[in-house]
Amino acid sequence: MNTTSTVDTAQRARAVIPGGVNSGQRSLPDWPDLVVTQAQGARIVDGEGRSYTDYHAAFGPPLLGHNAPEVTAAVAAAGQRLDLCGVGVSSYEVELAETLAELVPSIEKVLLTSTGSEATFHALRLARAVTGRRLVVKFQGCYHGWHDSVSLNVISSPDRIGSPDPISAGILPEVLAATLVLPFNDVNAVHRAFAEHGDDIAAVILEPVPHNIGCVLPDQEFLSTLRRETERHGSVLVFDEVITGFRHALGGWQEISGITPDLTTLGKAIANGYPLGALGGRADLMEEFSSNPGSPVFFAGTYNGHPAIVSAALATLRILRTAPVHDHVFRLGDRIRTGLAEVMADVGVPAVVTGYGSVFVTYFMEGAPPRSYDDLLRNDAALFVGYRQRLREHGIFELPLNLKRSHVSYAHTDADVDALLEGTRAAVQRARQ
Ligand code: PLP
Repeated sequence: MNTTSTVDTAQRARAVIPGGVNSGQRSLPDWPDLVVTQAQGARIVDGEGRSYTDYHAAFGPPLLGHNAPEVTAAVAAAGQRLDLCGVGVSSYEVELAETLAELVPSIEKVLLTSTGSEATFHALRLARAVTGRRLVVKFQGCYHGWHDSVSLNVISSPDRIGSPDPISAGILPEVLAATLVLPFNDVNAVHRAFAEHGDDIAAVILEPVPHNIGCVLPDQEFLSTLRRETERHGSVLVFDEVITGFRHALGGWQEISGITPDLTTLGKAIANGYPLGALGGRADLMEEFSSNPGSPVFFAGTYNGHPAIVSAALATLRILRTAPVHDHVFRLGDRIRTGLAEVMADVGVPAVVTGYGSVFVTYFMEGAPPRSYDDLLRNDAALFVGYRQRLREHGIFELPLNLKRSHVSYAHTDADVDALLEGTRAAVQRARQ
């Protein structure tokens, strides 16, 4: 039941904000009047004052939990000293760049943006500039932000796989045609694409772990094939580590896999919820952005390197390096995956529970964990969404939209995990009725 004031706020929102929300996929078909009023640690609170243990985590940034006190304090402290000046550089930016170069294997030089989309946009523009080539390769199921070159083939209906499937109207067909979409983990498709188009491929961009469809783990052979083929053909390999960066390891999936891309994009967990993205990589490539006369690739942004936001990142990374954050979230993630699989087996619901570290997802299908988007066509979308809707009755929030992943943070506890497993047992049975 929504109170009048919540309904009123949501209605006022719809009157002045298209769709009533400020980003795609924030509006829930079964809960159009959702208003959020508080977020702290592992909890969010709705307009009626009901508290939920939050595993949606704003699509991933608050690895430390919402409103982590040290991060909030760092933002306030920076604000006492400095705000945006838009000229020169601050010591905060230098410290962050040095930290990123130290942590992330591919990063020799780095630039800051406000979002992940800006980072992937600039990565692809840079790749086209340095190679003088047209084509970008992306993979079905991966999401890299809202800009035209990559706004296609994320969650496609079966009949749209294999042809350009834009996620938005208004994209020029010739822009869509300049992006080749391949199936993830398919080494032969990569060989074929390079055999046919190698001299015209500027960049290959991928989420090293496609988390925008839950969790599809990469074969090591797939990643090394991408590295070899891009090297052989002079194309730029871009790891979009906006989700995997810092969450799975301080050096991202490139640290885990040992495969070093040419460019890396970062965002989300880097600043625990404050708006920060980054693009880094090989110094010779990144130097093309230099603002020196004669440097060919333009890079700008009024808010880039905002001292308060950069301070949030410095505080976040300091905690990630000194507190047992990864130990904690990996342990809880393992407990959740094991526990959920047991519950599903116990109640007799066919399910594949997968994920990595702090990320988990339950697909309602038989068989092995998915290796590509196609495998996920077997997921029972109605049960996936219905189960999550029912979880709310147990004070648990996982985003009730098909194929979304869930996240555990440093603020979640073993008691939260117990409650999730208990809530699941009831919710999945209700959802299946
Ligand atoms: N890359 C990946 C892998 C993402 O998941 C996202 C956002 O979800 C982006 C890029 C775009 O980042 P932003 O929403 O900060 O623009």
